[in-house]
Amino acid sequence: MTTAGTLTVAGLGPGDEALITPEVRAALDAATDIVGYIPYVRRIAPRPGLTLHESDNRVELDRAAHALDMAAQGRRVVIVSSGDPGVFAMASALFEALENRPGTPDDIDIRILPGITAMLAAAAQLGAPLGHDFCAINLSDNLKPWSVIEHRLRMAARGGFAMAFYNPRSASRPHQFGQALDILRDECGGERLISFARDVTKPDQCLHTVTLAEATPEMADMRTVVIVGNADTRRVGRYVYTPRRA
Ligand code: SAH
Repeated sequence: MTTAGTLTVAGLGPGDEALITPEVRAALDAATDIVGYIPYVRRIAPRPGLTLHESDNRVELDRAAHALDMAAQGRRVVIVSSGDPGVFAMASALFEALENRPGTPDDIDIRILPGITAMLAAAAQLGAPLGHDFCAINLSDNLKPWSVIEHRLRMAARGGFAMAFYNPRSASRPHQFGQALDILRDECGGERLISFARDVTKPDQCLHTVTLAEATPEMADMRTVVIVGNADTRRVGRYVYTPRRA
């Protein structure tokens, strides 16, 4: 009989090695197997005793099932995500896979280790644009209809929230982000500040803050997290911040 192993879902943070938590670093050092989307697994240095399993982007459930299989065989498996694993990432996919898999030994020790998510890393680089109430919206319609995204955008704008957008614009859906900008201009007016933060904390980091009137869809891609301020968000020197009162 094999003893059940461990399954850890770990967030690697936005890119800078210094932003990987010591807890995640220790889990990576103790792993026998690391599973994840190709660019995230490539961030892990190979070493004897460690097997790296790279997989494609849209196979989250297969990846989770594979990780569960290996953990059930007694291995110490780490699934890696960028940023935080609970934010539009692998932690939920793992629990979905677990729910769909009767018979998985319940003595597998599952742990979710947080990481610094893109919007918080971006906000810190910009100043404090998320300093008051805010929400995060995934603009990808892979797993939900575009009509739901449009509705949530309008409601968040009407609710007075600052907003962070993940997966804003990809080659396979180049037009939707323009529609999102139109909705935001409609709800918030042209003067509202919008920041585009690309490759945050990586060597090619690029930050760009404009008004909604000036914003164009090409300012965002899949390496960008977009932050829209609330009605009080303003510039102070080269920083952008949102006051704590409203
Ligand atoms: N779990 C991740 C998000 C995965 S969704 C997290 O917590 O950060 C992928 C999206 O995250 C990208 O399309 C982009 O919008 C954002 N993102 C991730 N890393 C980023 C970085 N270093 N700079 C800017 N945006 C990033």
